[in-house]
Amino acid sequence: VEPLDVDRIREDFPILDREVNGGPLVYLDNAATSQTPTRVVESISDYYYRYNANVHRGIHQLSQEASIAYEEAHDTVAEFIGADGREEVVFTKNTTEAMNLVAYAWGLNELGPGDEVVTTEMEHHASLVTWQQICKRTGAECKYVPITEDGYLDMDAAAELITDDTEMVSVVHASNTLGTVNPVRELADIAHDHDALIFADAAQSVPNRPVDVKALDVDFLAFSGHKMCGPTGSGALYGKEHVLEAMEPYLYGGDMIVKVTFEDSQWNELPWKFEAGTPSISEGIALAEACEYLDDIGMERIQRHEEQLAEYAYDRLTELGDVEVYGPPGDDRSGLVAFNLDGVHAHDLASIVNDYGVAIRAGDHCTQPLHDVLGVGASARASFYLYNTREEVDALVDAVDEARSIFA
Ligand code: PMP
Repeated sequence: VEPLDVDRIREDFPILDREVNGGPLVYLDNAATSQTPTRVVESISDYYYRYNANVHRGIHQLSQEASIAYEEAHDTVAEFIGADGREEVVFTKNTTEAMNLVAYAWGLNELGPGDEVVTTEMEHHASLVTWQQICKRTGAECKYVPITEDGYLDMDAAAELITDDTEMVSVVHASNTLGTVNPVRELADIAHDHDALIFADAAQSVPNRPVDVKALDVDFLAFSGHKMCGPTGSGALYGKEHVLEAMEPYLYGGDMIVKVTFEDSQWNELPWKFEAGTPSISEGIALAEACEYLDDIGMERIQRHEEQLAEYAYDRLTELGDVEVYGPPGDDRSGLVAFNLDGVHAHDLASIVNDYGVAIRAGDHCTQPLHDVLGVGASARASFYLYNTREEVDALVDAVDEARSIFA
């Protein structure tokens, strides 16, 4: 795999030239939101300057152009994740909405007392809270696959928890706190052996590594545009065509129907059946532009680059001696490190490194139950992307060192 030309890539991101607190911005909060390359920003302005109109095949020229661009954006996103076509890709505003779409449209109709949803201790609240609450409403039971000491899923426990009572297995592909990359295909095989469906939360994998929905054999998969060089307000739900076909709509309204009478309505074809009302048009078009941008650079190269930075950060931080890094060893994780400096609250740490222009996240990263398992209330998290450098990791470690001396 050819290394990235990071100097060249950084030219695509004008925001990286910013100064923060008198020094260069060191942006290491990519797992929360990534930065946006010029070409993606331009795809938004191009839409508003040249062909802003409502979609769904209005008769006039602008509406035709907008419709074609919006529909083709689905094809591009489908191709990016190895889906069969636009029928399998519903645009949503983010991962959370995709998750709720399935929970409401499938869960409320299919789950009941005696049914089980199996998910994991390392889920993001987007998944954990959603299944927990849908189970409460339907009388189904929610079960959690535990994690091992090293932050892997306990696969023996998973094999025991997934039974013929299981209707849904929902798993985060790459953990936004531990950096663990979960064996989604293996879980899909176990789920399917028990006639259960599987949902992969790919918010931290689709932006960072090649993801092929057919190879993973998942029934559903969700991700957000704003973590993969795209705009906020964009995201997607992948679903196998026959699974989406069998599902009731989530939202009712315009554009999701083909025929309406006072008595009843007939649903539009996929994916429009799940896209009621005027969608986020420019955001969807820009998400496709982001996919093309990432594809031009190459997802394998991006994955390799991030993993090398994460391993370097893991090594440098653990060398400090009084830093605990959570999750698997440095050479087996996706591009992020969550950690705590002994005796310093993660919020104070993030605030001090911000004085040095270094942007990291502090808190529970929307994984409160996982932090309970780890036995800490909060952690600091640095997360890397294609434009980050080893020098930026050094800047982080220097700033953490400074924080230590301030609190000593
Ligand atoms: N799942 C994971 C693993 C995430 O990291 C995130 C974003 N922090 C989400 C779900 C939710 O994404 P969004 O806020 O874009 O819906």
